[in-house]
Amino acid sequence: MFTITVLAFQYQREKSYKRARLENTLDNITEITDKFIRENHLLEDNHVSDLADLISILPETNPRITVISKEGKVLYDSFVKDYSSMENHYNRPEIMRARANGSGANIRTSATTSQEFYYYARLFPHYYIRAALVFDVTVKDFLKTSTQFITFMVVLFLVIGLILVLVTIKLSYTITKLKDFAVRAGSNELVAFDTKFPANELGIISGQIIQIYNNLKKTKDDLSTEKEKLFNHLDALDEGIAFFSPQKVMTLSNGKFIEMVNLFSKKEVVSATEMLESSSFKKLHSFLSAYLETDAVDLESRVPKLDYTVSKEEKYFRIYSIIFADRSFEVVVTDVTRLEKRRLMKQQLTSNIAHELKTPLSSIRGYLETILENWPIPEEKQKYFLEKAFFQSERLTALINDISLINNIEDAGELFEMKQVDIKKITNDVYEYFSSKIEHNKIEFIDEVKLNTVINGNESLLFSVFQNLVENSINYGGQGIRIHIKCYHRDERYFYFSYSDTGGGIPKEHLPRIFERFYRVDKGRSRVTGGTGLGLAIVKNAIHLHNGRVSVKNRPKGGVEFLFSLSIK
Ligand code: ADP
Repeated sequence: MFTITVLAFQYQREKSYKRARLENTLDNITEITDKFIRENHLLEDNHVSDLADLISILPETNPRITVISKEGKVLYDSFVKDYSSMENHYNRPEIMRARANGSGANIRTSATTSQEFYYYARLFPHYYIRAALVFDVTVKDFLKTSTQFITFMVVLFLVIGLILVLVTIKLSYTITKLKDFAVRAGSNELVAFDTKFPANELGIISGQIIQIYNNLKKTKDDLSTEKEKLFNHLDALDEGIAFFSPQKVMTLSNGKFIEMVNLFSKKEVVSATEMLESSSFKKLHSFLSAYLETDAVDLESRVPKLDYTVSKEEKYFRIYSIIFADRSFEVVVTDVTRLEKRRLMKQQLTSNIAHELKTPLSSIRGYLETILENWPIPEEKQKYFLEKAFFQSERLTALINDISLINNIEDAGELFEMKQVDIKKITNDVYEYFSSKIEHNKIEFIDEVKLNTVINGNESLLFSVFQNLVENSINYGGQGIRIHIKCYHRDERYFYFSYSDTGGGIPKEHLPRIFERFYRVDKGRSRVTGGTGLGLAIVKNAIHLHNGRVSVKNRPKGGVEFLFSLSIK
């Protein structure tokens, strides 16, 4: 295309060059003709036809010369014999132009010869002289005459074309590779792209692009693994956690968060705005408003935190929030019911313990005071009060022992040494321990636990379990009862025991609370027997430490039955 354009341009130049040359020639001819007419007085003498003599000696082959009067009448025409009858030439384009500018030209096909003529007219003082020559600048002729030029052009463009093709091949290799890379990167199926690029600028750029892409991809992959870890971590958390944009739109949260928020709002909450409007979040809401709605606070230097606890239907939630430097924020909701209940329980327990300790202490003090204030007192009375004080001090010791035992089981269970223990040996020891009381109360003691009922446990705790149960039966069951211990079942993991007596049993309404610390059915009676109210609590905790469960029920025929399991391993 470029070659054709150049040739066309060259053709046009050739054409206009020929035109200029032709015009120059024709101008000369008109000049010569004018001179010839004037010098030979052809017009005055009416010898215009003598112009043929001039034409014959002109170097140009067969020029057409026309002499036209100022009015347009043809005075002579070298091509037409009967020129006097020719039509008026006043309006011929070349004449009109000559009238306006002194000279004018026009190219048109002659009606007489059907050849293309170049007409050139010039205005002289008394007439126009028009000269015309065949205008033969055709493409064919041009091509014919310019073969050398065309050959040169074609060869030149072939060479340039070849160079272009070579350069393009080189460039397109890199570009094709880059395209392949882009397509694969676009569809994300890229694992590693290690094509070698040529060592040119494009190759270096491509190499760099791929390097940057690979780095980005690696970072992205690393990030998504980290993100996944974070998500899994968030989901595994016991806390509800959510992140919000500064516009209070939730950007990330775990399942627990939605669950918890819905727990303490009346209607179903799905959006963050709804959540913040719920009454439990009032404090959070005003905290956020204080920091998010003004630009005055500089969040770069300090991180505002909010931490408070709300309670909802016997449950306690700790709400914790941090506002980050970009004004996005995090809300963490933790169910602290257990902790809170434990805290309250501990509080209650402490006051219970204080109360329980106070009773024997003030008794001891009372007895000692009586002795001192009434000194000297008869020896018998002295002994009586001292015995009473001693009994209370025993009670105090028992109480303190029980309290510290129960605390140890609860807080430092792992400190109890576990080893293979035969339950039969324990029950035997307990029987030994209470034998005189058992005899005294005429209690029938039936122990059906078989030898080699071996579990992995702590000897002294297991002893406490049976000791407390038997002691209670002795203390609350009354005389002539029967105590029955048996291991009624075993499976792969547990031994299942039943401990029962045939005493008075425990009133139904007290059963659910019987394992609580310091819980007694009959406070007065318990005090007489020296019970601390901790016996069954110890039983329960010790069984739990052996991965077992304990429950209690009244026997249909009277008396209580404790059912419990103890883990073998
Ligand atoms: P305590 O040290 O007062 O005996 P426990 O925790 O051992 O405390 O027992 C709690 C209460 O359960 C006792 O006060 C008693 O009223 C009742 N109790 C426990 N065992 C028996 C039983 N075998 N028969 C009847 N009542 C019992």
